[in-house]
Amino acid sequence: MNTSDIVAALTRIYEEETPSQEDLISLLSVSDDAGLRLIFETADRVRRRHVGNTVPVRGIIEFSNYCRNACRYCGLNRDNRALRRYRLDRELILDAVDAVEGEGVNTIVLQSGEDGALDPSWLARLIGEIKAQADAAVTLSVGEWPGEYYRLWREAGADRFLLKHETANPSLYEELHEGAAFGERTAHLRLLKALGYQVGAGNIVGLPGQTAKDLAADILFMKELSVDMAGIGPFIPHPHTALAGVPEGSLVMTLKVVALTRIVLKDVHLPATTALGSIHPLGREMALSAGANVIMVDITPAPYAALYEIYPGRRGAGEEIFRRLAAIRQIIHSCGRTIASGRGDAIRLCKKHPED
Ligand code: SAH
Repeated sequence: MNTSDIVAALTRIYEEETPSQEDLISLLSVSDDAGLRLIFETADRVRRRHVGNTVPVRGIIEFSNYCRNACRYCGLNRDNRALRRYRLDRELILDAVDAVEGEGVNTIVLQSGEDGALDPSWLARLIGEIKAQADAAVTLSVGEWPGEYYRLWREAGADRFLLKHETANPSLYEELHEGAAFGERTAHLRLLKALGYQVGAGNIVGLPGQTAKDLAADILFMKELSVDMAGIGPFIPHPHTALAGVPEGSLVMTLKVVALTRIVLKDVHLPATTALGSIHPLGREMALSAGANVIMVDITPAPYAALYEIYPGRRGAGEEIFRRLAAIRQIIHSCGRTIASGRGDAIRLCKKHPED
C-alpha cells in the first residue's frame, strides 16, 4: 500500500459504520516505517479526540490461580502440575485495596483462573466490602459462570466484567479451548451486557495458525458487540503448555491491532497491556502512543503475583507494590500524559468530557 492508499483506508475505517474486512486486512499488512507511523499517529489522534489525555489506572488483584480449564496457551491450565497454586483470603485482598488508597488507582480488578471452588457468595461479600472501603469501581475477570452468579455479583456492586473473546475465529477458538465453543463465549458476553455490566473483551495476537483475516474479524467482532473495553496482547509461550515451542506474537502486529481497534471503535478503553510490556521493555509506552489509553498495575501481594503465571516473565511481578506503582507513573509521564482522577467508566456512560 502506498501512502495515499493507507490514508484513504484509514479514513474509511474511521468513518464507516461497518468497516470492510478487506481494508483492515490491508492495513494489518503494512510493514514499512512510514506506513506504520501513519497508522500509529492516526490512532493517537483518534484517542486524543475521543478519550482525552488522562490515563485511568486499574489495580489488578489475582486472587486465585486455580483453574478447571485447559486453555492451550495459558500457564494456569489445570494440567500444569509444576505450578504452585494459591488462593488469597479476604484480608489479604482488602489489604491490597488499602495499600493503593490515595494512589490514583480508581478501579480494582479481581482476576483469577476459573477456580472450581469459587464460592459466589464469598465473592459477592468481597465486592461489597471493597465498594464500602474504597471509592473505586470493581471489575471482575473470573471466567465463565452461570447467569445467576453474574446477577449476584452485579447486585453486590460489581461494575464491569472482563471476559476476553481471545479469538473471533470459531475453529481456532475451539482448537485452543478443549470442550468450549466460541458461541458460548459470545453468549456470556451478551448476557453480561444485558445485566448492566460495562463489558470488556479482547484478543491474543500471534496465536498459532491465526491470520490477518482473523485479526480483522476480532476488531469487527468487538465493534459489533460495542464493547466498553478491549484487552489486546501478544501471545507469549509458556513452557508448561501445549504451545510451549510456538514463537511469541509480534510487537508490531499487536500495536497495529491496538491502533486499528482505536480507529474503528473510537470511544473505547484500550489498555497498554502487561503482555506488551513483557515482550518489549517499552511495549506499554508504544501502545499508549498508538491508541491505548488505560494501564493496569498488578497489586497482587509479592509472593503470589509471581505465581499467577499465565505466561512467563510478567513484568513487575517480582517487585513490591509501591515499586510497581512508581513504574506505572513513570510510563504515563514519559508519554506526556497524566493519571485520570475519575473511575474511568465506560465512555458511553460519561456525561461530561472524559478530561473533566
Ligand atoms: N479465567 C479468566 C482470566 C484469564 S487470565 C478468564 O477466563 O477470563 C487473563 C487473560 O490472560 C486471558 O484472557 C488471556 O487472554 C491471557 N493469557 C493467558 N495466557 C496467555 C499467554 N500465554 N499469552 C498471552 N496472553 C495470555
